[in-house]
Amino acid sequence: MESIKTIFKIGYGPSSSHTMGPGRAAQHFKEQTEASAYEVTLYGSLAATGKGHLTDEAIERVLGAERTTIHWHPEIFLQQHPNALRLDALNPDGSLITSETWYSTGGGEITMTPGRKNVNSIYGLHTMNDILQWCQKKGKNIWEYVGEREDADIWQYLDGVWAVMKQAVKNGLDHESRLPGPLNVARKASSYFTKAQSQSTQYQIRTQLFAYALAVAEENASGGKIVTAPTCGSCGVVPAVFYLLEDIHHFNKKRILHALATAGLIGNLIRFNASISGAEVGCQGEIGTACAMAAGAATQLFGGTPAQVEYAAEMGLEHHLGLTCDPVMGLVQIPCIERNAFAAARALDAKEYALLSDGIHRVSFDRVVEVMKETGHDIPALYRETGLGGLAKKQKPS
Ligand code: SF4
Repeated sequence: MESIKTIFKIGYGPSSSHTMGPGRAAQHFKEQTEASAYEVTLYGSLAATGKGHLTDEAIERVLGAERTTIHWHPEIFLQQHPNALRLDALNPDGSLITSETWYSTGGGEITMTPGRKNVNSIYGLHTMNDILQWCQKKGKNIWEYVGEREDADIWQYLDGVWAVMKQAVKNGLDHESRLPGPLNVARKASSYFTKAQSQSTQYQIRTQLFAYALAVAEENASGGKIVTAPTCGSCGVVPAVFYLLEDIHHFNKKRILHALATAGLIGNLIRFNASISGAEVGCQGEIGTACAMAAGAATQLFGGTPAQVEYAAEMGLEHHLGLTCDPVMGLVQIPCIERNAFAAARALDAKEYALLSDGIHRVSFDRVVEVMKETGHDIPALYRETGLGGLAKKQKPS
């Protein structure tokens, strides 16, 4: 597995696989080959929902809109991955200089060889079970395993991640009016936060949690600065849970960063052993993973044992199994934004449940990750970020 820095990427929304990834591929291609014109062909899910996700704008921003032609082929799925793009560099006479095919595999990651394990692997252990055994043998916590494997600057990096997450919550609470795009969706975070102030404590905490998750998800939907956790579409869950817990329980920065490290490792395990790409396994891989990350990290913050952290993360993912990806009009708005709020609430429920237990349970985290992958591959393509099935099929612009 690679560094958890690749799970927590600082960037701009609305989509890590459809905006950040293609933008990075275009950047890489341009650095190799300066040309007078480019042709870019989008395949599969990238083409199906690319308009709503602003894929074309992300590519044109890098290559130059005036010299880039984009072709859309939603009906063609390349065998290696559903998110594929081919970049052609052309001479002034239209002849081909060179061509590259990239795959956007989720969370902003790109590769030309999907399926091949990355050479930048820094983690020797690739399952939660092995990591728990390491914790038991050494008498250490999960975050300490991260600390031992990452470069020394990891804490500084996570400090930067936490700062951007907090700012995204604040920005989202500060912005009102409507989100960009034809759905004309109203921002809700600010009004939910205001309503929370007049509620009794019992309801106030839950409403604030919703407001924080909506705030970040709305920032993402409007192209604001966020951190993938693990993707753009699911970027509101982890910050909402952390922001609420820091506010109420005053956890110090060091403990917050340690919990972020554990969240990153949970996301990393899911990406390595299954997928965090909605186009590959549906929303269970995005929102389900975000919930698992937040649940495990919150459990650690409250003094949970590694076994309880594993249990919370397992529940966060298990209870999202089968969740489809069907964004209306291909925009990361409906159902994505609300899903962040509900997953944040579920993460705190999983934390409570795990802390009531001794951490012993029947279905392991590793088993659920395996099942999530199988389930994702069994879900028809209609429900994997193609915008053709489910909610996307029924809903029209208002
Ligand atoms: S439905 Fe889920 S997986 Fe699909 S774009 Fe929205 S957040 Fe991402």
